[in-house]
Amino acid sequence: MVPRLDVRRLNAEKKYSGELSFSFDPEEDPVEIPYVSLVSPIRAELGYEILEDDSVEIRGTIGFTLKGLCSRCLKEMEKRFSEEVEGYFVPDGDGREDYAYTNGVIDLREFLRDAVLFSMPAGLYCSETCTAPEYKED
Ligand SMILES: [Zn+2]
Repeated sequence: MVPRLDVRRLNAEKKYSGELSFSFDPEEDPVEIPYVSLVSPIRAELGYEILEDDSVEIRGTIGFTLKGLCSRCLKEMEKRFSEEVEGYFVPDGDGREDYAYTNGVIDLREFLRDAVLFSMPAGLYCSETCTAPEYKED
């Protein structure tokens, strides 16, 4: 379940920063790797900070597990990912910012959908030797 961030109420309560931890199922399957699927749910550990102009910074990590066949050797495998994410929300935005919110409440679903898509690896690899050639560091 994705919580909503009630900026107006948090401001009234002077809770200008805080933590959000929750699990959620993506609305659409974000995995495009063949023979690989997401093990639901996705875990989000986020911190928020409300700035003086009521814009809100959110940063933290999302964690998820992918399960399926190694993209190179087709071995069955499962791997846990933890990726840093961040977003910037502006009240009644003008379209230039990352995300706009209205009526004092932030709906995190669009941000999370983007964050999950950006965090998805290009392939799933079972070991160091099973790395995609273009991602080799040496
Ligand atoms: Zn492999």
